[in-house]
Amino acid sequence: MREGYHSPQVDVEVRLNTNESPFAPPAAFVDALAAEVGRIDWHRYPDRAAWDLRVRLAELHGVAPEQVFVANGSNEVLQVLSLTYAGPGRSVAVFEPTYAMHAQIAKIVGSEVAEGGRAADLSLDLDEVRRVVAEHQPAITYVCSPNNPTGMVETEETVREVLGLVPGLLVVDEAYAQFAPWSALSLVDEDTPLVVTRTFSKTWSMAAARLGYLVAPTWVVAELEKVVLPYHLDSLKQAAGRIALDFVGEMEQRVSTLVEERGRVVAELVDLPVEVWPSSANFVLFRPIARDGDAVWQALLDESVLVRNCSSWPGLDGCLRITIGTTDEDDRFLAALRKALA
Ligand code: PMP
Repeated sequence: MREGYHSPQVDVEVRLNTNESPFAPPAAFVDALAAEVGRIDWHRYPDRAAWDLRVRLAELHGVAPEQVFVANGSNEVLQVLSLTYAGPGRSVAVFEPTYAMHAQIAKIVGSEVAEGGRAADLSLDLDEVRRVVAEHQPAITYVCSPNNPTGMVETEETVREVLGLVPGLLVVDEAYAQFAPWSALSLVDEDTPLVVTRTFSKTWSMAAARLGYLVAPTWVVAELEKVVLPYHLDSLKQAAGRIALDFVGEMEQRVSTLVEERGRVVAELVDLPVEVWPSSANFVLFRPIARDGDAVWQALLDESVLVRNCSSWPGLDGCLRITIGTTDEDDRFLAALRKALA
Protein backbone atom coordinates (compact mmCIF):
# COMPACT_ATOMS: atom_id res chain seq x y z
CA MET A 1 0.00 0.00 0.00
CA ARG A 2 1.23 3.50 -0.83
CA GLU A 3 2.19 5.89 1.98
CA GLY A 4 0.58 9.32 1.98
CA TYR A 5 2.54 12.56 2.23
CA HIS A 6 2.84 13.76 5.81
CA SER A 7 4.30 16.70 7.61
CA PRO A 8 3.48 15.77 11.20
CA GLN A 9 1.72 18.58 13.05
CA VAL A 10 2.17 18.70 16.80
CA ASP A 11 0.74 21.29 19.16
CA VAL A 12 3.80 23.41 19.97
CA GLU A 13 4.65 27.02 20.80
CA VAL A 14 7.12 27.48 17.94
CA ARG A 15 6.16 25.87 14.63
CA LEU A 16 8.98 26.01 12.07
CA ASN A 17 8.30 22.89 10.03
CA THR A 18 6.20 23.73 6.95
CA ASN A 19 7.86 26.78 5.36
CA GLU A 20 4.88 29.09 5.80
CA SER A 21 5.31 32.81 6.34
CA PRO A 22 5.48 33.73 10.04
CA PHE A 23 3.67 36.99 9.20
CA ALA A 24 -0.05 37.44 8.65
CA PRO A 25 -1.04 39.23 5.44
CA PRO A 26 -1.58 43.03 5.76
CA ALA A 27 -4.79 43.97 7.64
CA ALA A 28 -5.87 46.01 4.60
CA PHE A 29 -5.79 42.82 2.52
CA VAL A 30 -8.12 41.07 4.95
CA ASP A 31 -10.47 44.10 5.02
CA ALA A 32 -10.59 44.31 1.23
CA LEU A 33 -11.27 40.58 0.97
CA ALA A 34 -14.05 40.80 3.57
CA ALA A 35 -15.67 43.60 1.54
CA GLU A 36 -15.38 41.46 -1.60
CA VAL A 37 -17.36 38.63 0.05
CA GLY A 38 -20.48 40.82 -0.16
CA ARG A 39 -19.94 41.44 -3.88
CA ILE A 40 -19.64 37.80 -4.97
CA ASP A 41 -22.59 36.25 -6.84
CA TRP A 42 -22.74 33.29 -4.49
CA HIS A 43 -25.50 31.53 -6.48
CA ARG A 44 -23.34 31.47 -9.62
CA TYR A 45 -20.37 29.32 -10.56
CA PRO A 46 -17.05 31.17 -10.55
CA ASP A 47 -15.35 32.49 -13.69
CA ARG A 48 -14.10 29.18 -15.03
CA ALA A 49 -11.04 30.72 -16.67
CA ALA A 50 -10.14 32.83 -13.57
CA TRP A 51 -9.42 35.45 -16.19
CA ASP A 52 -9.06 38.59 -14.05
CA LEU A 53 -6.62 36.87 -11.72
CA ARG A 54 -4.62 35.57 -14.68
CA VAL A 55 -4.51 39.07 -16.18
CA ARG A 56 -3.11 40.43 -12.91
CA LEU A 57 -0.51 37.65 -12.63
CA ALA A 58 0.44 38.14 -16.28
CA GLU A 59 0.99 41.86 -15.61
CA LEU A 60 3.13 41.02 -12.59
CA HIS A 61 5.41 38.77 -14.63
CA GLY A 62 5.27 40.52 -18.01
CA VAL A 63 3.67 37.58 -19.84
CA ALA A 64 0.31 36.97 -21.54
CA PRO A 65 -2.71 35.81 -19.44
CA GLU A 66 -2.93 32.80 -21.79
CA GLN A 67 0.47 31.75 -20.40
CA VAL A 68 -0.84 31.59 -16.83
CA PHE A 69 -2.71 28.69 -15.22
CA VAL A 70 -4.06 28.96 -11.66
CA ALA A 71 -5.16 26.22 -9.25
CA ASN A 72 -5.69 25.34 -5.60
CA GLY A 73 -2.11 25.57 -4.38
CA SER A 74 0.92 24.77 -6.50
CA ASN A 75 0.34 21.15 -5.48
CA GLU A 76 -2.81 21.12 -7.61
CA VAL A 77 -0.89 22.85 -10.40
CA LEU A 78 1.67 20.00 -10.26
CA GLN A 79 -1.11 17.42 -10.17
CA VAL A 80 -2.84 18.84 -13.25
CA LEU A 81 0.52 18.93 -15.05
CA SER A 82 1.05 15.24 -14.27
CA LEU A 83 -2.51 14.31 -15.23
CA THR A 84 -1.99 16.07 -18.56
CA TYR A 85 1.56 15.12 -19.52
CA ALA A 86 2.48 12.02 -17.47
CA GLY A 87 0.52 8.84 -16.64
CA PRO A 88 0.89 5.13 -17.45
CA GLY A 89 3.63 4.34 -19.93
CA ARG A 90 5.39 7.67 -19.31
CA SER A 91 8.09 8.59 -16.87
CA VAL A 92 8.73 11.58 -14.63
CA ALA A 93 12.30 12.48 -13.63
CA VAL A 94 13.17 13.77 -10.17
CA PHE A 95 16.56 14.32 -8.52
CA GLU A 96 16.52 13.35 -4.86
CA PRO A 97 16.51 14.76 -2.30
CA THR A 98 13.82 17.12 -3.50
CA TYR A 99 10.18 18.02 -2.88
CA ALA A 100 8.48 14.68 -2.24
CA MET A 101 5.21 15.55 -3.99
CA HIS A 102 6.83 15.55 -7.43
CA ALA A 103 7.40 11.79 -7.24
CA GLN A 104 4.27 11.16 -5.17
CA ILE A 105 1.92 12.76 -7.72
CA ALA A 106 3.74 11.03 -10.59
CA LYS A 107 3.14 7.64 -8.94
CA ILE A 108 -0.49 8.41 -8.18
CA VAL A 109 -1.21 9.13 -11.85
CA GLY A 110 0.48 5.85 -12.79
CA SER A 111 3.78 7.14 -14.19
CA GLU A 112 7.15 5.53 -13.74
CA VAL A 113 9.37 7.69 -11.51
CA ALA A 114 12.87 8.03 -12.96
CA GLU A 115 14.86 8.85 -9.86
CA GLY A 116 18.27 10.45 -10.11
CA GLY A 117 20.66 11.41 -7.34
CA ARG A 118 22.60 14.63 -6.73
CA ALA A 119 26.23 15.58 -6.24
CA ALA A 120 27.78 15.05 -2.79
CA ASP A 121 27.03 18.68 -1.84
CA LEU A 122 23.38 18.07 -2.90
CA SER A 123 23.63 20.35 -5.95
CA LEU A 124 22.13 19.20 -9.25
CA ASP A 125 24.60 16.98 -11.12
CA LEU A 126 24.31 17.50 -14.89
CA ASP A 127 25.93 14.14 -15.68
CA GLU A 128 23.27 12.47 -13.58
CA VAL A 129 20.57 14.48 -15.39
CA ARG A 130 22.06 13.30 -18.71
CA ARG A 131 22.03 9.67 -17.54
CA VAL A 132 18.43 9.72 -16.25
CA VAL A 133 17.10 11.56 -19.29
CA ALA A 134 18.89 9.24 -21.74
CA GLU A 135 17.70 6.10 -19.92
CA HIS A 136 14.07 7.11 -19.31
CA GLN A 137 13.11 9.82 -21.84
CA PRO A 138 10.90 11.50 -19.21
CA ALA A 139 7.68 13.25 -20.23
CA ILE A 140 8.26 15.63 -17.30
CA THR A 141 11.57 16.51 -15.65
CA TYR A 142 11.42 18.38 -12.35
CA VAL A 143 13.95 20.86 -11.10
CA CYS A 144 13.08 22.54 -7.81
CA SER A 145 14.78 25.92 -7.40
CA PRO A 146 15.37 26.84 -4.66
CA ASN A 147 15.25 23.14 -3.87
CA ASN A 148 13.18 21.92 -0.95
CA PRO A 149 14.70 20.79 1.41
CA THR A 150 18.25 21.96 0.61
CA GLY A 151 17.42 25.62 -0.14
CA MET A 152 19.91 25.64 -3.01
CA VAL A 153 19.11 27.57 -6.18
CA GLU A 154 19.97 26.43 -9.71
CA THR A 155 21.78 28.91 -11.95
CA GLU A 156 20.43 30.14 -15.27
CA GLU A 157 23.23 28.21 -16.97
CA THR A 158 22.16 24.95 -15.31
CA VAL A 159 18.48 25.43 -16.19
CA ARG A 160 19.44 26.20 -19.81
CA GLU A 161 21.59 23.06 -19.94
CA VAL A 162 18.80 20.88 -18.54
CA LEU A 163 16.39 22.42 -21.07
CA GLY A 164 18.75 21.35 -23.82
CA LEU A 165 18.70 17.75 -22.55
CA VAL A 166 15.04 16.97 -21.84
CA PRO A 167 12.78 15.40 -24.46
CA GLY A 168 9.57 16.55 -22.71
CA LEU A 169 8.57 19.35 -20.35
CA LEU A 170 10.96 20.87 -17.85
CA VAL A 171 9.05 21.99 -14.75
CA VAL A 172 10.96 24.38 -12.52
CA ASP A 173 9.18 24.45 -9.16
CA GLU A 174 9.75 27.97 -7.82
CA ALA A 175 7.63 27.81 -4.67
CA TYR A 176 10.44 29.77 -2.93
CA ALA A 177 11.73 31.86 -5.83
CA GLN A 178 11.05 35.27 -4.28
CA PHE A 179 13.72 34.50 -1.67
CA ALA A 180 16.27 33.71 -4.40
CA PRO A 181 18.47 35.94 -6.58
CA TRP A 182 17.27 34.53 -9.92
CA SER A 183 14.11 33.09 -11.51
CA ALA A 184 13.59 30.84 -14.52
CA LEU A 185 10.54 32.94 -15.43
CA SER A 186 12.86 34.95 -17.69
CA LEU A 187 13.34 31.84 -19.88
CA VAL A 188 9.64 31.11 -20.52
CA ASP A 189 8.55 31.65 -24.12
CA GLU A 190 6.33 30.02 -26.73
CA ASP A 191 9.12 27.92 -28.24
CA THR A 192 10.56 26.48 -25.05
CA PRO A 193 9.05 23.46 -23.21
CA LEU A 194 9.56 25.20 -19.86
CA VAL A 195 6.99 25.53 -17.07
CA VAL A 196 7.61 27.58 -13.93
CA THR A 197 5.35 26.99 -10.91
CA ARG A 198 4.72 29.48 -8.11
CA THR A 199 2.59 29.68 -4.96
CA PHE A 200 0.83 32.23 -2.77
CA SER A 201 1.53 30.02 0.26
CA LYS A 202 4.95 31.32 1.28
CA THR A 203 5.83 34.90 0.31
CA TRP A 204 2.22 36.00 0.03
CA SER A 205 1.38 34.78 3.57
CA MET A 206 -1.62 32.94 2.12
CA ALA A 207 -1.07 29.25 2.85
CA ALA A 208 -4.65 29.05 4.17
CA ALA A 209 -6.08 30.12 0.82
CA ARG A 210 -4.52 27.29 -1.24
CA LEU A 211 -3.58 29.22 -4.36
CA GLY A 212 -0.79 28.52 -6.83
CA TYR A 213 -0.07 29.05 -10.52
CA LEU A 214 2.28 28.38 -13.37
CA VAL A 215 3.72 30.36 -16.24
CA ALA A 216 4.25 28.37 -19.45
CA PRO A 217 3.82 28.51 -23.21
CA THR A 218 0.17 29.03 -24.22
CA TRP A 219 0.00 25.55 -25.79
CA VAL A 220 0.76 24.00 -22.38
CA VAL A 221 -1.87 26.10 -20.59
CA ALA A 222 -4.46 25.19 -23.26
CA GLU A 223 -3.86 21.47 -22.60
CA LEU A 224 -4.11 21.87 -18.83
CA GLU A 225 -7.46 23.62 -19.21
CA LYS A 226 -8.84 20.54 -20.96
CA VAL A 227 -7.85 18.34 -18.02
CA VAL A 228 -8.63 20.39 -14.92
CA LEU A 229 -12.10 20.06 -13.38
CA PRO A 230 -14.61 22.74 -14.41
CA TYR A 231 -14.87 25.63 -11.94
CA HIS A 232 -11.98 24.24 -9.88
CA LEU A 233 -11.06 27.68 -8.51
CA ASP A 234 -13.80 29.29 -6.41
CA SER A 235 -14.75 32.96 -6.67
CA LEU A 236 -13.50 33.87 -3.20
CA LYS A 237 -10.06 32.47 -3.90
CA GLN A 238 -9.86 34.24 -7.24
CA ALA A 239 -10.71 37.48 -5.43
CA ALA A 240 -8.14 36.75 -2.71
CA GLY A 241 -5.44 36.31 -5.34
CA ARG A 242 -6.40 39.50 -7.19
CA ILE A 243 -6.52 41.56 -4.00
CA ALA A 244 -3.19 40.14 -2.79
CA LEU A 245 -1.59 41.54 -5.95
CA ASP A 246 -2.49 45.04 -4.73
CA PHE A 247 0.03 44.48 -1.92
CA VAL A 248 3.23 43.70 -3.81
CA GLY A 249 5.19 46.25 -1.76
CA GLU A 250 4.15 44.71 1.56
CA MET A 251 4.97 41.26 0.24
CA GLU A 252 8.42 42.33 -0.87
CA GLN A 253 8.97 43.87 2.55
CA ARG A 254 8.16 40.55 4.20
CA VAL A 255 10.56 38.78 1.85
CA SER A 256 13.45 41.10 2.64
CA THR A 257 12.78 40.83 6.38
CA LEU A 258 12.93 37.03 6.10
CA VAL A 259 16.05 37.07 3.91
CA GLU A 260 17.80 39.26 6.49
CA GLU A 261 16.62 36.98 9.30
CA ARG A 262 17.82 33.94 7.34
CA GLY A 263 21.28 35.53 7.25
CA ARG A 264 21.22 35.97 11.02
CA VAL A 265 20.08 32.37 11.67
CA VAL A 266 22.70 30.92 9.30
CA ALA A 267 25.44 33.03 10.93
CA GLU A 268 24.44 31.58 14.32
CA LEU A 269 24.24 28.03 12.95
CA VAL A 270 27.73 28.07 11.44
CA ASP A 271 29.15 28.70 14.93
CA LEU A 272 27.50 25.49 16.19
CA PRO A 273 28.60 21.87 15.61
CA VAL A 274 26.28 21.44 12.63
CA GLU A 275 26.73 21.23 8.86
CA VAL A 276 24.68 23.96 7.13
CA TRP A 277 23.61 24.17 3.47
CA PRO A 278 23.56 27.58 1.74
CA SER A 279 19.91 28.65 1.44
CA SER A 280 18.15 30.92 -1.05
CA ALA A 281 14.76 30.05 0.44
CA ASN A 282 12.85 30.74 3.67
CA PHE A 283 14.25 27.62 5.34
CA VAL A 284 17.65 26.18 6.18
CA LEU A 285 18.85 22.58 6.07
CA PHE A 286 21.38 21.50 8.67
CA ARG A 287 22.88 18.33 10.13
CA PRO A 288 24.11 18.02 13.71
CA ILE A 289 27.65 16.67 13.49
CA ALA A 290 28.06 14.71 16.68
CA ARG A 291 24.43 13.97 17.55
CA ASP A 292 21.75 11.88 15.94
CA GLY A 293 19.23 13.95 13.94
CA ASP A 294 16.19 12.18 15.45
CA ALA A 295 17.48 12.85 18.97
CA VAL A 296 18.03 16.56 18.23
CA TRP A 297 14.56 16.79 16.62
CA GLN A 298 13.06 15.30 19.80
CA ALA A 299 15.14 17.56 22.06
CA LEU A 300 13.84 20.62 20.14
CA LEU A 301 10.29 19.30 20.46
CA ASP A 302 10.80 18.91 24.20
CA GLU A 303 11.43 22.70 24.18
CA SER A 304 8.17 23.16 22.19
CA VAL A 305 10.03 23.90 18.94
CA LEU A 306 8.88 21.88 15.91
CA VAL A 307 11.23 21.64 12.90
CA ARG A 308 11.10 19.25 9.94
CA ASN A 309 12.88 15.97 10.46
CA CYS A 310 14.39 15.08 7.08
CA SER A 311 16.50 12.17 8.43
CA SER A 312 14.58 9.57 6.46
CA TRP A 313 14.67 11.46 3.13
CA PRO A 314 17.05 10.05 0.50
CA GLY A 315 20.61 11.28 1.12
CA LEU A 316 19.66 13.35 4.17
CA ASP A 317 20.68 11.09 7.01
CA GLY A 318 20.55 13.06 10.27
CA CYS A 319 19.30 16.28 8.62
CA LEU A 320 16.77 18.75 9.98
CA ARG A 321 15.13 21.73 8.22
CA ILE A 322 14.08 24.89 9.98
CA THR A 323 11.67 27.41 8.47
CA ILE A 324 12.72 31.01 9.10
CA GLY A 325 10.24 32.47 11.59
CA THR A 326 10.01 35.71 13.52
CA THR A 327 13.10 36.85 15.43
CA ASP A 328 11.53 35.57 18.67
CA GLU A 329 10.70 32.17 17.18
CA ASP A 330 14.17 31.79 15.71
CA ASP A 331 15.75 32.78 19.02
CA ARG A 332 13.68 30.09 20.75
CA PHE A 333 14.92 27.59 18.14
CA LEU A 334 18.56 28.65 18.47
CA ALA A 335 18.44 28.46 22.27
CA ALA A 336 16.81 25.01 22.14
CA LEU A 337 19.37 23.82 19.57
CA ARG A 338 22.32 25.06 21.68
CA LYS A 339 20.88 23.19 24.64
CA ALA A 340 20.33 20.03 22.54
CA LEU A 341 23.91 20.11 21.23
CA ALA A 342 25.58 21.00 24.56
N1 PMP B 1 6.55 23.07 -4.20
C1 PMP B 1 7.43 23.06 -3.21
C2 PMP B 1 8.87 22.96 -3.52
C3 PMP B 1 6.98 23.14 -1.87
O1 PMP B 1 7.87 23.10 -0.88
C4 PMP B 1 5.60 23.25 -1.61
C5 PMP B 1 5.08 23.38 -0.20
N2 PMP B 1 5.57 22.51 0.72
C6 PMP B 1 4.73 23.23 -2.69
C7 PMP B 1 5.23 23.16 -3.97
C8 PMP B 1 3.25 23.26 -2.50
O2 PMP B 1 2.81 24.46 -2.10
P1 PMP B 1 1.29 24.90 -2.18
O3 PMP B 1 0.48 23.71 -2.64
O4 PMP B 1 0.96 25.35 -0.81
O5 PMP B 1 1.26 25.99 -3.20
